[in-house]
Amino acid sequence: VLEASPKVRARTDLRCLRCGRHYDESAAIYLCPSCTVGDDPSDAGVLDVQYDYDLARRQLADQAGELRLERNDVFRYLPLLPVDAPAPVLPAGGTPLVEAPRLVGSTNLEALFLKDETRNPSRALKDRATAIAVTRALEQGHNDLVCASAGNAAISLAAFCAHAGLRAHAVVPHDASEVRMQWLRALGADLIRSEFDYDGAYQQAEEARDEGWYSRNCAFNPFLVEGKKTCGLEIAQQLNWRVPDLIVCPVGDACTLASIGKAFRELREMGLTGRLPRLIGVQAAGVQPLVARYLGRDPAAVKNGSQGTTRAASINVGHPRNARRLLNELETCDGELLAVTDDQMAVAQLELARSAGVVAELTSAAGLAGLRMLAQRESLAGARVVAVVTGGRLDQPIGEEVTP
Ligand SMILES: [Zn+2]
Repeated sequence: VLEASPKVRARTDLRCLRCGRHYDESAAIYLCPSCTVGDDPSDAGVLDVQYDYDLARRQLADQAGELRLERNDVFRYLPLLPVDAPAPVLPAGGTPLVEAPRLVGSTNLEALFLKDETRNPSRALKDRATAIAVTRALEQGHNDLVCASAGNAAISLAAFCAHAGLRAHAVVPHDASEVRMQWLRALGADLIRSEFDYDGAYQQAEEARDEGWYSRNCAFNPFLVEGKKTCGLEIAQQLNWRVPDLIVCPVGDACTLASIGKAFRELREMGLTGRLPRLIGVQAAGVQPLVARYLGRDPAAVKNGSQGTTRAASINVGHPRNARRLLNELETCDGELLAVTDDQMAVAQLELARSAGVVAELTSAAGLAGLRMLAQRESLAGARVVAVVTGGRLDQPIGEEVTP
């Protein structure tokens, strides 16, 4: 057995999800230069990190071929990450997969598991991407990082920067919660209050890259979804590589669920699993551009035509910037996109608390709400399901996220 040196990178290059062109990482390209963004940020040339999976598989194993996955954070899967070594950042990942039998109730599911991402350092899955962003920023000598966020991503970035002694710049949309902004100030972040919604704030944060600030905008910076991917890798490992039938997850910019799909494709590629889970993405009824695109309707019509809003702040995204990444994954795994109302999310939020003891924020209850909707449409008898509970801030009233 040829033992690969850990110094040899398993990652090879970057591939545009839109046109398929390959780019060398050293070219320092951010979005594909051949795919113009134009007026539609939903279809930018987002890049995807490529790996040599034979090499990655060997690096994950010891000399006897057994997996050596000792660490309990995202760096456990180092050969599948776009960083050269673990950095001394807050420990993201390593969250529990909790079986919740009382949530199965009268359904015929075999089992329902909650991937409890509220147990990350800043109580959100976002920390997985932040860990990679901060590590790469340190590797490249950046002192400043920037992101656009309604709350969780910015709070995550601010927390990691506070710990590492770096400067976090948070561009927050005009409707961001006052409580979350107070926490951003408490964590020492430079707060840049946008006069626009999330879509406008995102654009402002992108332009701030000209300052030399490292981008923690997960949808465009190609390296950050690799951090989120570890959520999927953990789910598989925690189920002893027995792939679940369904994974349900809220969808905003579409990075999280798409990255979980990539994780399961990689595991299959490395021969650790034999099939893919069906991914079920859940959007809010008031803002469901991806559902519209999935069903072939005009996404702009949904954003501008219906009531066009949701109290679930983290998925209030009119122009999902990683749409193509998720749509590709859904096609590969025969997945689906659903939309649930805010009231259905609020019911699921209470259900998670009362029947599983998990404090989820409104957005993060969308997965369970979507599962309930799916169960009314089709039989889920005997299915093993994982619902990703993406975050659990305690600073918002039950059933609310946006403070008027
Ligand atoms: Zn391209």
